[in-house]
Amino acid sequence: MPETFWTRSQFVKPADREVICHASAWNVDQVDDLRIKMCTKVNGDDFVTVHHELGHNYYQRAYNKQNVFYLDGANDGFHEAIGDMVALSITPDYLVQVGLLDKAQVPSADKDLGLLLRQAMDKVAFLPFGLLIDRYRWDLFSGKVQPAGYGKHWVDMKLQYQGVVPPVERGPETFDAGAKYHIPANVPYTRYFLARVLQFQFYEAACKIAGWKGPLHRCSFYGNKEVGKRLNAMLEMGASKPWPDALQAFTGSREMSGKAMIRYFAPLTKWLNTQNRGKTCGW
Ligand SMILES: [Zn+2]
Repeated sequence: MPETFWTRSQFVKPADREVICHASAWNVDQVDDLRIKMCTKVNGDDFVTVHHELGHNYYQRAYNKQNVFYLDGANDGFHEAIGDMVALSITPDYLVQVGLLDKAQVPSADKDLGLLLRQAMDKVAFLPFGLLIDRYRWDLFSGKVQPAGYGKHWVDMKLQYQGVVPPVERGPETFDAGAKYHIPANVPYTRYFLARVLQFQFYEAACKIAGWKGPLHRCSFYGNKEVGKRLNAMLEMGASKPWPDALQAFTGSREMSGKAMIRYFAPLTKWLNTQNRGKTCGW
């Protein structure tokens, strides 16, 4: 696109006032007035974020004929997973198809490990963090942990789940957990953990429907009508059925599974196993 297109069409952060730049998707009239609120930059990260937010908007539009009580995702993990599933389809070949990458610049298969390692740092490294946030909140809500122990419990869980420790000793007056937006804002977080698992399951299902042959991480189902039809069959159900029904409508399975994620990263796992041979991993 010419430079003028981008400068006119991106939503830039206003210079004259304080705004919340954290991206979000909005359903204004519960019909088809759908909007994204974010401060965009033209880069790879925001390209993926736009897909994530649009996933919410397409879901909202698909279920807009449902009864008012069912105007929502099958569960909140589904809502977070749709855009991410589509973003997994941003492969080098897809970028060529939409005119964002020169065919000559498509990396060869021997460069896939770098791509997968980058994806794993995002998708896999997130899993223990995604799981611990609500577990931490629930321990506070249940009273299992008292206010004097809020700081220590955070540090303990970070070590237990993620194997990380603070750079300097934390005293009883510190509350690192407060720096994670969702904790003071009281936003449930398990949805993001579930979405990490579901998005790979959705993605593998889409690739199967599209008849993809080849390594899973290279699959793009861009433009495939059958995938669109099957995906919409799940999305338009909204919250009107139990989530296993929705999952089945698209993937054929009623059970959530991490197996698709394992298959996506299989080449990386093989490489890491070689790199780590003879080493003691863990903490
Ligand atoms: Zn979201």
